[in-house]
Amino acid sequence: MADPNLDSDRFPPSLWAATTAAAVSTAPLPPGMHFADLLVIGAGFTGMSAALRAAERGSRVVVLEAAEIGWGASGRNNGQVIPAMTRADPDAIVAEYGVEKGEALVSLIGESANTVFDLARRHRMECGAVQAGWIQPAHRASRLGLARSRVEQWRRRGVEAELLGRDRTAELTGSSFWYGGWQNMTGGHLNPLAFVRGLARAAQDAGACIHTRTPVSSLTRQGAHWVAAHGDARVQARRVLIATHSYTGRPARAPWPGIADALLPMRSYQMATQPLPAHLRASILPHDHAMSDTQSDLHFARFDRNGRLVTGGALVVPFGYKDRLRRRIGARVRRMFPQLDGLPLRFEYLWHGDFAVTPDRMPRFAKLDDGLYTWYGCNGRGVALSTAVGAELADVALSGDERGSRLPFSTLRPIAAHAIVERLAIGAMLYYRWKDRRD
Ligand SMILES: Cc1cc2nc3c(=O)[nH]c(=O)nc-3n(C[C@H](O)[C@H](O)[C@H](O)COP(=O)(O)OP(=O)(O)OC[C@H]3O[C@@H](n4cnc5c(N)ncnc54)[C@H](O)[C@@H]3O)c2cc1C
Repeated sequence: MADPNLDSDRFPPSLWAATTAAAVSTAPLPPGMHFADLLVIGAGFTGMSAALRAAERGSRVVVLEAAEIGWGASGRNNGQVIPAMTRADPDAIVAEYGVEKGEALVSLIGESANTVFDLARRHRMECGAVQAGWIQPAHRASRLGLARSRVEQWRRRGVEAELLGRDRTAELTGSSFWYGGWQNMTGGHLNPLAFVRGLARAAQDAGACIHTRTPVSSLTRQGAHWVAAHGDARVQARRVLIATHSYTGRPARAPWPGIADALLPMRSYQMATQPLPAHLRASILPHDHAMSDTQSDLHFARFDRNGRLVTGGALVVPFGYKDRLRRRIGARVRRMFPQLDGLPLRFEYLWHGDFAVTPDRMPRFAKLDDGLYTWYGCNGRGVALSTAVGAELADVALSGDERGSRLPFSTLRPIAAHAIVERLAIGAMLYYRWKDRRD
């Protein structure tokens, strides 16, 4: 049977798709010529945040989405709002991009959780937003140094971060599985599909025209303008933001060459349990944190508003994934939270999606041509980052002022031997699991 997660005619069988109010009404782009100041391709966090920002500033905005709002990574992730990258820590970002641009990008990342929760509040989104903090526990004593270093680097930049001893970590997670860790108090979690639909509603209210079921099949330069085509319909715009990220080339043709070769799509499986009994809900992540630990084979969890534990993991061999995941992640969750022993765990929802990884785990921002921009490489941390970057990209696209932007632009960085590296990257999980147990 075809995998429903890959079918662009419907949403993946996710908890979010099953429990979220419908999106604003949209339709495919009608035939004929349409005009915009900013054309956005892709309706995830990046695209919708950009559309909202540009429309609020009075620009004419058209958004074209191949499937539906939030069909890509934005509607199917774990919903952890994390204002930090997986491996690219602040000092590494500054080393990569230089003091001025690097610090500017770090400040955008550091503020990104507040950006998300402020938007949710300002636009009264019913997206289960909980800003109770994000915690990163250390899975081995040797990773406590990493926690110390991250707290030090963020605090040096004025970001609220707390180093956690073993007891405090046990208090916040409800488990003595971890050795300590750190938390960022501005983080949290939400229902990501409700949030991206909330952004779309706000953007539409501000005047943006959103067209779904409208895959862009070509993007060409005509004089001072770009023209995007979909069947007999065209959109002409001076500025274009390609916000297709890890779904570049899926479910539709890539609107621009080279983006898909600059990133590695990495699959993550998501699962949600039945609502847990109240006493267990109260003993696991009792302060309602979002949690993802220091392992490369990430252990992560958060609750939804009905007391379902939303967790998941990665697989090297995808065949027969449902049964294997139920066994593997079921056992993992019990190791993390032994209080679940004796409770039959039913994973009532199981789905997957792909996020974009770059070889050095740095986010990349590209000016593809005059007035044409994109970004890629959330590296698994894109709820907050994509939202913040989308708004920033809209500003840059409309002003043309890349120098004044907080984003460091470069050209695309294609990955050499992409097809081979893509295959190896999946297998690399075996190495990372081995390393997780030894580091
Ligand atoms: C399973 C999973 C779990 C994750 N968990 C977390 C988490 O807990 N916390 C966190 O911070 N990050 C997480 N992430 C990462 C985060 O979801 C992404 O970084 C973020 O959603 C990227 O948003 P985006 O708008 O850039 O791209 P997307 O949401 O992927 O949007 C791209 C859109 O472009 C459309 N498109 C593609 N081609 C065309 C075309 N030719 N024409 C028109 N439209 C097109 C697609 O249909 C898609 O809707 C997770 C990702 C996955 C997959």
